[in-house]
Amino acid sequence: MTPAELRSRLADNLRAVEEHIAAACARSGRLRDDVTLVAVTKSVGVEIAAMLPELGVVDLGESRPQELWRKASALPTDVRWHLIGHLQRNKIEKTLPLVHLIHSVDSERLLGALDHEAGKLGRIASVLLEVKLSREAAKTGLPTDVLPAVVQRLPAFKNISVRGLMTMAALEGDPRATFAELRNWATRLSGPQSMSELSMGMTNDFEVAVEEGATLVRIGSALFEGLPES
Ligand SMILES: *Cc1c(COP(=O)(O)O)cnc(C)c1O
Repeated sequence: MTPAELRSRLADNLRAVEEHIAAACARSGRLRDDVTLVAVTKSVGVEIAAMLPELGVVDLGESRPQELWRKASALPTDVRWHLIGHLQRNKIEKTLPLVHLIHSVDSERLLGALDHEAGKLGRIASVLLEVKLSREAAKTGLPTDVLPAVVQRLPAFKNISVRGLMTMAALEGDPRATFAELRNWATRLSGPQSMSELSMGMTNDFEVAVEEGATLVRIGSALFEGLPES
C-alpha cells in the first residue's frame, strides 16, 4: 500500500468508529465531547501511528512502556500519550515525563513509586486505578475487596491525581454488567478525589461501554483493520 492508500484506509476506519461512538452517545443521551477516543497503536508502526494526529486523533495509547517511548520520540510532541498496560517500577522514570494519563495503576506499591518519581520531577501524575472485575486469571488490576482501603489512603500520595477507574471486560460474558459495575464503583468511591473518568471499552465492546458511561474508549483493531501490522 502507498502512504496515500494507508491514510485513506485509516480515515475510513476512523470514520466508522466515530459513527459508532456518536450513535452510542445519541442512544444514551450523552455528548460526543464527553467521550475521548484513545487510539491504541500497539499493533502498528510509527508511520501509521503518525497519521492519526493528522486525522485529528491526538490521544494515543500503548500497552508497553518501551513501545510508548519509541513512538513518543518519533511523533509530534502535542500527542497525548496514554499508558494502558502494566508499568514496572524501573520504567517509571522514563515513562512519567512522556505520559498524559496512566490507565493501569494496579497496586499501591506502584502508586507509591509514581508519587515518589512525580515529586522528583515536580509534577502531578494523572492516573486511573485499574480494577479487576473479571474472574479471568489473565486479567490484571486491583481486586475490588482492596479498592476502598486503597482509595482511603490516596491523600497520602501528594503527587498523584487519581482521575477515575479503568477496567477490561472478560472475553466472554456480558460486558455491560462489568461496565455498569465499574461505574457504580466510581460513584461509590468518589470523595475528595473525584472519580469522573471511566476508561472502558475496546474494539469488541466500546459501544456498550459508551452507553454505560465510558469517558475514555481504548480502540486498536477497529482502527487498523486492513492495514499492515508492525
Ligand atoms: C490492546 C488493548 C486495547 C485495544 O484493543 P482492541 O481490541 O484492539 O481495540 C485496549 N485496552 C488495552 C488495555 C489493550 O491492551
